[in-house]
Amino acid sequence: MLRMEDLDPATCDRQKALQLMDDLRWLGLTWNGDPWYQSERSWAYGEALEALEALGLVYPCFCSRAELHAANAPHASDGTYIYAGTCRGLSAAEIAERSLVKRPALRVMVPELGDPAGSIDFIDGVYGLQSTVLARDCGDFLVRRSDGVYAYQLAVVVDDAAMGVNHVVRAHDLMGSSGRQRYLQHVLGLGEVEYFHVPLLVAPDGRRLAKRDFDLDLGSLRAWMRGPERLLGLLAWKVGLIESFEPVSAAELVGEFSWDKVAARCGDIVVDEALVDALRG
Ligand SMILES: [Zn+2]
Repeated sequence: MLRMEDLDPATCDRQKALQLMDDLRWLGLTWNGDPWYQSERSWAYGEALEALEALGLVYPCFCSRAELHAANAPHASDGTYIYAGTCRGLSAAEIAERSLVKRPALRVMVPELGDPAGSIDFIDGVYGLQSTVLARDCGDFLVRRSDGVYAYQLAVVVDDAAMGVNHVVRAHDLMGSSGRQRYLQHVLGLGEVEYFHVPLLVAPDGRRLAKRDFDLDLGSLRAWMRGPERLLGLLAWKVGLIESFEPVSAAELVGEFSWDKVAARCGDIVVDEALVDALRG
């Protein structure tokens, strides 16, 4: 199945979705059925939000971006902030008064520090035991932004359950989200999924590759590569699936795949000039 995580209309459009599907097909990755578009599933996220509200776990947050930066400790791994609970104790009258001038974001309460319900442990299939204490590591977190866009954390949990997803494979920089998602799975009564975080491609200075930095992206690779086989072979070798670099197709890699191989090699993959030269052949 294919899911487009196109929650934010400011950064997502159908043209990008079509490009993404074209890139996946070029790589030899196919899927069953029609893609799921998160932009069409607000009703499902709204239902989940109502369920959280019925549990008394949701409250409005009126903090501005500047206030969040000033009042909250930065999070070590992903640059988000550990929310100090500023708006948790607002009275109904205060909420009504502030709502007149500003549409609030919505946050879900996490258990107090020391409450075992707020300690989330899970075994990542690549990186091993992961422990999150929600009150310490993120605090009460967003489930809907002030502009009405549902948060990634809520949407993926709802969609994983709706689509029958039981294995989540994604990049290592999203590891920190897993504790929040598992908490939402628990309180919403949804099944747990298994997590497998995979190494990132990084620049020689350790920075994550990003399109906005004009790093090597699939569009520029496709412009000068005749097919995907050298790229797939290089990635498969770097992630430990094959012994040495050789051109290979996605279909040929299926038989080589094992999580043990990926786990044995886990660690970021540096994209340097030698690697780009190997791609050029
Ligand atoms: Zn707030």
